[in-house]
Amino acid sequence: MNIQTFSEEQDLFRESLREFCEQTIVPRRTELEDKKEIPDDIIKAMAEFELLAPSVSPDFGGAGFDAVTAGIAAEELARADPTCSIPVLYLVQCSWGHVFNKFGTEEAKGEILPKVTKGEAICGIATTEADIGSDLGNMVTTIKPTDKGYVINGNKNYISGVREAAKYGGGHVTLARQDLEAGTRGMTMFFFPLKDVPGVTISEDEEMGREAISTGGFIIDNVEIPKHYLIGEENKGFYLVHIGYEYARGLIALVCVGAAMKSIENGIAYIKERKAFGRPIGKYEAIQFALAEHYTRLEMARDFAYKALYYLEKEQSEGKYSRMEVSKIIAMSKLLTPGWAFNAIDDAMQWQGAFGYSRECPDQSALRAIRSFTLAEGSREIMRLIVARELLGKDFIAYK
Ligand SMILES: Cc1cc2nc3c(=O)[nH]c(=O)nc-3n(C[C@H](O)[C@H](O)[C@H](O)COP(=O)(O)OP(=O)(O)OC[C@H]3O[C@@H](n4cnc5c(N)ncnc54)[C@H](O)[C@@H]3O)c2cc1C
Repeated sequence: MNIQTFSEEQDLFRESLREFCEQTIVPRRTELEDKKEIPDDIIKAMAEFELLAPSVSPDFGGAGFDAVTAGIAAEELARADPTCSIPVLYLVQCSWGHVFNKFGTEEAKGEILPKVTKGEAICGIATTEADIGSDLGNMVTTIKPTDKGYVINGNKNYISGVREAAKYGGGHVTLARQDLEAGTRGMTMFFFPLKDVPGVTISEDEEMGREAISTGGFIIDNVEIPKHYLIGEENKGFYLVHIGYEYARGLIALVCVGAAMKSIENGIAYIKERKAFGRPIGKYEAIQFALAEHYTRLEMARDFAYKALYYLEKEQSEGKYSRMEVSKIIAMSKLLTPGWAFNAIDDAMQWQGAFGYSRECPDQSALRAIRSFTLAEGSREIMRLIVARELLGKDFIAYK
């Protein structure tokens, strides 16, 4: 087992990023929620700080982050933006930028990734459909090869960043089935653009949190994409998509830890000051015991999340661990952390009494946002299935 320690460079990066966040992001929380978008000047500042798809190699405008450094940024951005809108934009682009960078064609990478890293385009992920989320093998979006490229038909739903992709340009890494009889072996991955594309109809959903980044869907009606938008080989999409999911799941664990730790710190400040029955409420054991347990869980989750990202990095860059080992450790990291974070934030709000429930309190924004992570990029039930599959073997997969 490797105990994760950070390099001096990573410590310095965290320090300077925290400063950047304090100045650029922290004062803007209510604006993010009121305007329901990430302001252009924040996107620009993030681009300058190399926070947009930083996993992309410098050849295509990225910072070439390893997964652990990417995790540091996820944690810090979540501390700074309790709405988690900025962390979501960050983690989605970092994860799927990694997949695009590694398996996309040189032509598509040159065309799209430098714009993504400059904040002039979006790179999201769109696998979920109206009737299919967890059960990807039964998705109905189709991809058919033509002379010039591929024709796509389908309907994607609950997708982060659709409005932004329509506004800025760029689009989503997407999966479709070439052979409906071939199950997961008939899935192909490609990049699908969303801005001004005839045959694409975009819709938006109202979500309970993360208000500054959109969630929505798009219908694809006979849209032809060029051949060079293929990512990896035809029919290998199901394998590739898990690399992106695992990257994203690993970062999500740290978004949860960052947001919840910040809430706990807010709670600590409050319970040291607020008095009830003649004493600061932090003197009461009922509060202290809950604090001690949440803090311990979050520290454990934090260490484990970095360990999981370390495994992912070693597998991706050196082939050191197997795909299945990485799947398992990442699933373990995402299985419990969103729930632990949600409960910690919930208690931190409770300690703050009625103020905790007011819009002025940042922790209620975090609570609403963190709830999404028991679903997004793979639900907690699917995380359990992955861990159990690795412990029991393929013969025990429930859905086969
Ligand atoms: C805020 C938000 C943003 C999102 N952004 C994106 C995005 O950018 N791109 C994208 O592609 N998707 C996105 N999603 C969709 C997300 O990935 C799906 O919600 C998730 O995969 C679950 O799919 P589903 O909602 O269709 O639920 P279903 O798959 O229909 O499942 C419903 C419930 O049943 C459970 N379940 C399913 N199968 C089993 C089983 N075998 N055993 C036990 N329980 C089971 C699930 O865990 C879930 O709790 C987003 C979701 C949210 C909430």
